Amino acid sequence: SLLRAAIDTTALVSPLVEIDRQHLIHPVSSMRAHEARGATVLTSGKGMYVRDADGNDLLDAFAGLWCVNVGYGQDSIVKAAAEQMTKLPYATGYFHFASEPAILLAERLIELAPNSLNRVYFTLGGSDAVDSAIRFITNYYNVMDKPSKKQFIALERGYHGSSSTGAGLTALAAFHRNMDLPLPNQHYISSPYPYRHKTETDDAGIIAQSVRELKAKVESLGGPDHVAAFFCEPIQGSGGVIVPPKGWLKAIRQACTELGILLVVDEVITGFGRTGPMFACEHEGVEPDLMTVAKGLTAGYAPMGAVLMSEDIYQVLASSTASGATIGHGYTYSGHPVSAAVGLEVLRLYTDGGVLANGQMVARDFAGGLDSLKTNPIVGDVRGQGLLGAIELVANKDTKARFDPALKLPDRLFAKGYENGVIFRAFGDNIIGLAPALVATPDEIWSIFERIGKTLDDLLEESDIR
Ligand code: PMP
Repeated sequence: SLLRAAIDTTALVSPLVEIDRQHLIHPVSSMRAHEARGATVLTSGKGMYVRDADGNDLLDAFAGLWCVNVGYGQDSIVKAAAEQMTKLPYATGYFHFASEPAILLAERLIELAPNSLNRVYFTLGGSDAVDSAIRFITNYYNVMDKPSKKQFIALERGYHGSSSTGAGLTALAAFHRNMDLPLPNQHYISSPYPYRHKTETDDAGIIAQSVRELKAKVESLGGPDHVAAFFCEPIQGSGGVIVPPKGWLKAIRQACTELGILLVVDEVITGFGRTGPMFACEHEGVEPDLMTVAKGLTAGYAPMGAVLMSEDIYQVLASSTASGATIGHGYTYSGHPVSAAVGLEVLRLYTDGGVLANGQMVARDFAGGLDSLKTNPIVGDVRGQGLLGAIELVANKDTKARFDPALKLPDRLFAKGYENGVIFRAFGDNIIGLAPALVATPDEIWSIFERIGKTLDDLLEESDIR
């Protein structure tokens, strides 16, 4: 019938895909590949599943972009947002204004965060949280009359967002290409990547080597008087879900303290239960000087991030404003009331709503699922913590040789996964990234691994792979 045709979403697909081709620039994509392929339009989501415009239901093993930690379709979040939008959709943080949800969210975040952190600055996401951290740190050392402390160090394979400065701390070539990055004051040390470590074979060796390399890097930059901070993710996400050895972050914390440089822990992915506890720092009792968060803060229901800092750093920044001078750093949407109301409800779901506890429970199934793939002939490594994991595919398990990039394996993997009803991240180095929502049932977790197992089997049937 006519009515049926009108509500048949597939009728809308091709015009949308065509309009997308004409006008919409997609983040982190090959524009030419996108023009050829066209967009995959998603229309709705419920729990662990998203639906595309053709009516396919897909098990989302990546929680959107490792952010929808509470799953899709949480009515209480919708209600919180609608109520706040009705009452007061916007309040600036400028001119000493504030809104109730922004204040309460700051309080709640500080309650949950490591003890070293006492002040919160809200941003719109992770990139501007990192950028804000860099600006605050620069400001801090200038106020401290230590203007020579301006070099920043981060990890190879690290990701710290896409801002014009922060993308230089991101140590992934795609984010530098044609962008004139890194900046002259941005430097890297080796990734603590157990599966492919350049020199070390055991955990203690990797930890000791990272500490040595950090100290040597600081020395090569003229000593601690020239170095501002070290940035790292507790588990490197976009670099391929690289899980450092146990004790690594603690050793880095100690080294930064000894060197007298600030430690900024970027928990944009690892925060809010992704690795088990509320923050990954808690695994090792690490207290950073600054911490960046986003994604799970609002579980992707509204854009928001934050940089948290110690009271000491705050007091130095504040001291420069005693005359009434301002610190010239701010966003129209810092502490946006609707995002903050969403954040408050999301944090309630993690704690009182039992979402974190559920995530911790199904993390056992997740680890079991990862393990179950180890025997697959092209799986070189599986790794993870909590509900963050990776499967690294290799052409040869003994030599760890990677597949020829000409095979375009990541694109093929992603497409085959999609055919099998599962969405995951397919990184360039043939690493499958997994970050399912923390609300998954054990069956849903196992279903992810069944579908991935089938995807790998399908791939193995292709003549150029085996
Ligand atoms: N830091 C880390 C560790 C991230 O994973 C990301 C996003 N993937 C960012 C910063 C940037 O966050 P956003 O994309 O929200 O700007």
